[in-house]
Amino acid sequence: MAKKPKTVLSLCRATGVLHLGNYLGAVRDFVALSEDPNAECYFGIADLHALTSLTDPEKLRPATRQVARDYLAAGIDPQQSALFLQSDVKETNELFWLLCNVTATGELLRSKTYKEMSDKQPENVNAGLLMYPVLMAADILGPQADLVPVGDDQITHLEMARNIAKRFNHRFGETLRMPAPYRKSSIRVPGLDGKGKMSKSDGNGFGIAEEPEAIWEKLRVAYTDPARQRRTDPGNPDLCPIATIHRFVSPKDDVEKIEDGCRTAGIGCIDCKKILHGHLSDLLAPVRARNQKLTDGDVSDALAAGATRVRTRFQETVATVRERMGL
Ligand code: AMP
Repeated sequence: MAKKPKTVLSLCRATGVLHLGNYLGAVRDFVALSEDPNAECYFGIADLHALTSLTDPEKLRPATRQVARDYLAAGIDPQQSALFLQSDVKETNELFWLLCNVTATGELLRSKTYKEMSDKQPENVNAGLLMYPVLMAADILGPQADLVPVGDDQITHLEMARNIAKRFNHRFGETLRMPAPYRKSSIRVPGLDGKGKMSKSDGNGFGIAEEPEAIWEKLRVAYTDPARQRRTDPGNPDLCPIATIHRFVSPKDDVEKIEDGCRTAGIGCIDCKKILHGHLSDLLAPVRARNQKLTDGDVSDALAAGATRVRTRFQETVATVRERMGL
């Protein structure tokens, strides 16, 4: 396959079922990027990174494979893009070590994520937490990525990867390509409990390949503006996660209709949720259909092909890095 002008790399956490927030906030954009004829896309699932906060090894592999399955269901075509597990790319570990030698310890110790994670799991402040950005730099610099879709929380890690590349190139000669951030959509899908963003750990969302009936059971009991105790009480759509999700998935006319109806008590919460459910069902129908056709073998085949492709890129980089470092 001819090399395309832009290499895009994205790694996501191995969290299991992808929820609507993952889809609208990230994966849908990845699918669009993967269809860009100028972009060669590599989508990795960061199972090595997951080890820094591992609680139950039995759950890691199923969670990792579930993410892979959901990526395929969401529309990532494994013929076009490489979908791979980080742990299948053995070269990542080698590059990680080589890059450790051009990483400033001070920068690692000052990392905000390191401090946050140390506070979050004080009983397990392992060296992996500290070295996390170097592993991420290896993930990015190995395939010589040009663009890395990142949210605000990951921007400093990308900056560290750039610093590592800069330091390497300065010391050993131009070798590593400088990755640039690709700003992802900054939408924030609220959780159905009204307590913040939709997140896997809070269990306040639904999977993108779930059946419409299952999604309805979750929507039906979702939090709405508490001012609407009775059908006749007016509400404020700005305080309601359902109205926010409407803004992301429903046509403009419907959004205006439900927001006006909420403020004037012209529409009840259940009817508003039913309209949302209809639009969500339409949006996710292709995801569900692809998911129904996917077999475990398809997921394994996609991951094997993706690993082979990304490893080829890594092997080229590692060979040059080794050579430049005098090995
Ligand atoms: P996570 O596994 O939580 O890191 O999420 C993977 C990707 O999905 C990240 O790029 C997040 O920005 C995105 N994401 C996760 N939750 C939400 C949400 N509630 N709203 C929008 N985007 C989200």
